[in-house]
Amino acid sequence: MRDETAFADLFADLRSLATYGGETGGGVSRTAFSKSFNEAQVWLAVRMTEAGLQVHIDAAGNLIGRYGPPGPAIICASHIDSVPHGGRFDGALGVLSGLAAFRALKTEGHSFARALEIIAFADEEGEYFSLFGSRAMLGLVHAQEVAAACGTRGIFMADAMREGGLDAAKISAARRPASDFHAYLELHIEQGPVLEERGFDLGIVENIVGIETLEVTFNGRPDHSGTTPMRKRKDAMRAAVAYCQRCYDEADKDEALRLNFDDWSMTPQALNVVAERVRFRQEIRHPDAAALTEFVVTAERIAAEAAQNSNATAQLRVLARDEPAILDASMRALLRHSAAARGVRFLDMPSGAGHDAQLFASICPTGMLFVPSIDGRSHCPEEMSSPEAIRTAVTVLCDALRALTSE
Ligand SMILES: [Zn+2]
Repeated sequence: MRDETAFADLFADLRSLATYGGETGGGVSRTAFSKSFNEAQVWLAVRMTEAGLQVHIDAAGNLIGRYGPPGPAIICASHIDSVPHGGRFDGALGVLSGLAAFRALKTEGHSFARALEIIAFADEEGEYFSLFGSRAMLGLVHAQEVAAACGTRGIFMADAMREGGLDAAKISAARRPASDFHAYLELHIEQGPVLEERGFDLGIVENIVGIETLEVTFNGRPDHSGTTPMRKRKDAMRAAVAYCQRCYDEADKDEALRLNFDDWSMTPQALNVVAERVRFRQEIRHPDAAALTEFVVTAERIAAEAAQNSNATAQLRVLARDEPAILDASMRALLRHSAAARGVRFLDMPSGAGHDAQLFASICPTGMLFVPSIDGRSHCPEEMSSPEAIRTAVTVLCDALRALTSE
């Protein structure tokens, strides 16, 4: 992609999309199926149509623009929903880069032997349902799950979808057969500091972490906190704190492992009563399926020991598991070749964040490009990538799409 107009159009598109849900300070709040999200989809549908794509929105709210002959397509996708108070580049850059690459290919007179689809998946960020649009497209979501899904602000997903003209009960209509997909390519910001710190222009993703989500509960006994000696207590909080500390200690031994905790609750809420019950969620991420499983086994042992030391009991419940994805060797080779041919300094690297690409990895050859994030910031208004880094990545994306749609 050498055409300056193509890049100027891309940067103008990025600025335009950022006005939907745009906030003072440069960030955006464009959560899935919100008013600003619906309006952004209308804007993007027009931009796609102007570029020459055949556009429709499926039953899950995925915006799909297609060009080329019938048959399995090359998918170039990401998402345009954001987290609350997020940045302008997460997801948006991938979709708009795909559109820019398509416009550039058309301008140069490229002949599409294979169809190209630019897709903006709905609710990648999980306002209601993490990776919702891609799950629905691959038949991994059921209407009952959508009916039960409720957002963080108490809005039911089905109600939010209805605002956008979608019927949650008809979600199965979004499902497409694997034979629709010849290959999948996603450009995304890195959302971490590695590329910048190590001086690389581009990341080529080798694998995407698996994520296991646990609900952890410690049960003790409510007693007077002043009169009950420390060692005689059945203290759920003491067990919970010991458990978390030991999990962190274990995590420090493995560079690839990531831990986080949220959604803490304890009963009773009283300083003069020993905690009877403490409950929280725990997220464990690892690029290796066996290592992920092994850590969960370790967590169960640690929980039992922490409970025993505090005369409490422990219960671990698996809430969800997304398997790690290894990205296709031939797609990685194509991206490396495209990058090397342009003299781009690239790094083969894992993705610590989940992406729609991870679901396609088991369906068709899948590849991912990472654009360096300034200061590694993401999911915040400061999220930024340099124009030079964007140009480099979109050029490589365009070269790869040209090759993929020529076969
Ligand atoms: Zn994203």
